[in-house]
Amino acid sequence: MTKRYRDTTALDDVSFTVRPGELVALVGPSGAGKSTVFRCLTRLVTADAGHVDVLGTPIDALHGRALRDVRRKIGLIFQQFNLIGRLSALDNVLAGRLGHVATWRVATRLFPPADRQIALAALDRVGLLDKAYQRADSLSGGQQQRVAIARVLAQQSRVVLADEPVSSLDPSSAANVIGVLRDIAREHRIGVLCALHQVDFARDYADRIVALRGGRLVLDAPARDFDDAAFSRVYGSEALAASM
Ligand code: ADP
Repeated sequence: MTKRYRDTTALDDVSFTVRPGELVALVGPSGAGKSTVFRCLTRLVTADAGHVDVLGTPIDALHGRALRDVRRKIGLIFQQFNLIGRLSALDNVLAGRLGHVATWRVATRLFPPADRQIALAALDRVGLLDKAYQRADSLSGGQQQRVAIARVLAQQSRVVLADEPVSSLDPSSAANVIGVLRDIAREHRIGVLCALHQVDFARDYADRIVALRGGRLVLDAPARDFDDAAFSRVYGSEALAASM
């Protein structure tokens, strides 16, 4: 992908692949182009050159219903959870079934029993079955993010884009959430692309790290290879010194 905004080249011929079952961390300093990658992958913006394949479908040329069908297969996880606070954890997870359920059922909130089973199983998988009927805004940040993970599970997404999913969590909840995300990627063969600004989490939990700097891809390697030399290539040697 190449993407320019007027005189800024936000992405300069960036190319990488996320395979089923792997968690790929997208890292890089502020302004590196991470958000632009996410915008291109969901077609909020269209790359000026290059193309994006989602599950074998080139999405750049899609419109209308065909684009909506592909988007439905992409689960999104946000830094601020994006749950509806006054609804229960279960209803939030059921929202992930919206693309699969007739409109009248959504309007009346009468989800079929099979969908409730899928949603409850998803909450169970993230360890929150006992919170199913609790209001989302009464849950801790880490629990809310696990509800968001349950929602993409219930959505039966094959691809998940997680934009800084642990940035607003304390370190122990963050480790828990990213661990759940990685395990679910493996179990369900979901490809997860996860923007992270905590390099330690990327190293500990990701399968691969894709690093951008100034819109260029500077590294695409197994997470265990992300050593100090790689860190300074991405963030600069001053940042490495400051992190020690
Ligand atoms: P990151 O998410 O890694 O911080 P972004 O993708 O937001 O990086 O930004 C990449 C570059 O593109 C930056 O130089 C940023 O200023 C520029 N940019 C992003 N969005 C716009 C926009 N809508 N208009 C102009 N420049 C933009």
